[in-house]
Amino acid sequence: MAEITIALSKGRIFDDTAPLLEAAGIVAKDNPESSRKLILDTNRASVRLVIVRASDVPTYVQYGAADLGIAGKDVLLEHGGNGLYQPLDLNIARCRMMVAVPEGFDYDSAVRQGARLRVATKYLQTTREHFADKGVHVDLIKLYGSMELAPLVGLADAIVDLVSTGSTLKANHLRAVEEIMPISSRLIVNQAALKLKRNAIQPILNAFAQAVKN
Ligand code: ATP
Ligand code: MG
Repeated sequence: MAEITIALSKGRIFDDTAPLLEAAGIVAKDNPESSRKLILDTNRASVRLVIVRASDVPTYVQYGAADLGIAGKDVLLEHGGNGLYQPLDLNIARCRMMVAVPEGFDYDSAVRQGARLRVATKYLQTTREHFADKGVHVDLIKLYGSMELAPLVGLADAIVDLVSTGSTLKANHLRAVEEIMPISSRLIVNQAALKLKRNAIQPILNAFAQAVKN
């Protein structure tokens, strides 16, 4: 049996993924949250997990360092998807990519008047495309986290970020004014690996697809 490597990130994606892996008959031997290991063995000798940063998952799979991975649509859009086969929306780690502004900021008027907006975000590609489609001029400011702070200290007029409950926005006196797209995580597969190791990979894809349906 071919060796299979699956790239995952810790946190919410792993929490939601563990039941799907289990449905595919794969159980990690260590808990990635408590273990410092970056390579985890599983109950199956031919399958191992590698634990990487969420935004690095597509890169590991693109270059074949991992055969499979699970990544958010947000991350995949920024990565571009080169070399990746994306067979399955797993419907996990669901949230929405939103534009948010300070409570007092009149976003609709700013957009209507053709104002040039300063937008802080981690998601440059998606944000650029969204505002280009609307015909709104934006200056993008790249941040790596805590986007909510940017409008509060005058770094930006608006942010683009992922929102689930909206409580972080609320705590920082921001409000969501526009949904860019719904986000969930997808299974990704290295295109070459799928051809070379189809006998090992296809049953995993099938088990995931079945588990998602249930
Ligand atoms: P890091 O925390 O290492 O900087 P990250 O913020 O990208 O990286 P997570 O916060 O674990 O990592 O997010 C991983 C993925 O989970 C995101 O790419 C996104 O698809 C999804 N996600 C992010 N925020 C939420 C949320 N509030 N609710 C549901 N899913 C989310
Ligand atoms: Mg995070």
